[in-house]
Amino acid sequence: MKLSKTINRIILPNLEGYFKSQSNDLINLTIGEPDFDVHKKVKQKLLNCSNSRFKYSSSKGNTILREQIADHINNQNKTQYTKDNILITTGSSYSLFLAYQTLFDRDDEIIIFEPYFPPYIELAKIVGAKPKVIPTFPTFIPELSQISKKISTKTKAILLNSPSNPTGRIYTKEFLLEVVKLAKKHDLFIISDEVYKDFDYDNKFLSPAEFYYKTIVVNSFSKSHAATGLRIGYLCGPVEVIEAANKLLFLEQVCVADFIQELFVDNLDISQKASKIYKKNRDMVIKELGGNFKFVIPDGGFYFFIKCPSEEKIFVAELAKKGVLVMPGSIFSSRKDYFRISLISDKIKLKKALEIIKSVL
Ligand code: PLP
Repeated sequence: MKLSKTINRIILPNLEGYFKSQSNDLINLTIGEPDFDVHKKVKQKLLNCSNSRFKYSSSKGNTILREQIADHINNQNKTQYTKDNILITTGSSYSLFLAYQTLFDRDDEIIIFEPYFPPYIELAKIVGAKPKVIPTFPTFIPELSQISKKISTKTKAILLNSPSNPTGRIYTKEFLLEVVKLAKKHDLFIISDEVYKDFDYDNKFLSPAEFYYKTIVVNSFSKSHAATGLRIGYLCGPVEVIEAANKLLFLEQVCVADFIQELFVDNLDISQKASKIYKKNRDMVIKELGGNFKFVIPDGGFYFFIKCPSEEKIFVAELAKKGVLVMPGSIFSSRKDYFRISLISDKIKLKKALEIIKSVL
């Protein structure tokens, strides 16, 4: 069958071969979602959901929710957004795609730091944009001189993901201000993926939106509310961007399910319980693996990106055989010498997994 050239260029992560022979008693440290129950009040509202909310609704989203999201961001970031700066989407994955479609023409360039969340690269292929990848090993903080060197007349945006998947790095104010300076100088957009910002263990998170008007924030309730399956998020940025992205959302999806949006009205504040549990478990990983493995201590998010002691495929397969599933680092970069583990809430299981990882070393 002859499909489009674009679709043939798209690569989805392929874990075949890594987990072929597995122990029966597995601890899964590959998961990309919090292992907590969905936000309590969201669940309560879902159970009491009224029949009136199953029809088409506004493509921009629920007005009250958009106002509340704008207020919520303003309180955290000292920005001055209104509902007109917010578009409700089906998760930050779609927010990202909307941002790409809104900004890029064919051959426009986007600067992406490696290791990266894989869709950053694949979505660029769909819109014909060119990812300009800057490796950040081993500190996972990009060098400003490298960014300057990569900027060309075709560059349209720099993508930041802080806290990062897979490294857990949170960018400092000094770094953000330098990136903003470059963006201003070359009139670039900053796309800021902030989906992990509520997992900020040492209160370090800052959004570039605080310093730069041409920032487009992509975010969702997937991680903050442990609501990955409800598929709801938002795009936040200059009104011109939101109006343009809304045209695409209307054509591509019409609107986000009205009853799902309603669940989050009055429910934006979250408890810090999940973050506190993960912080403790992060500290356990540092203690258990710190002596034997090389990694940067994550400031946030819920991942560790760790240097493999041997060839990635062999190491990951050996762990699966012994009962621990981890993500090969090559999913997030062109290198084959890292692996990613996800924090889980169960201390005993996590400890057991760490013992197994140490034993394979
Ligand atoms: N951005 C990053 C960095 C992620 O790790 C993920 C999911 O794992 C997403 C965006 C997409 O999340 P969602 O579409 O559920 O909001």
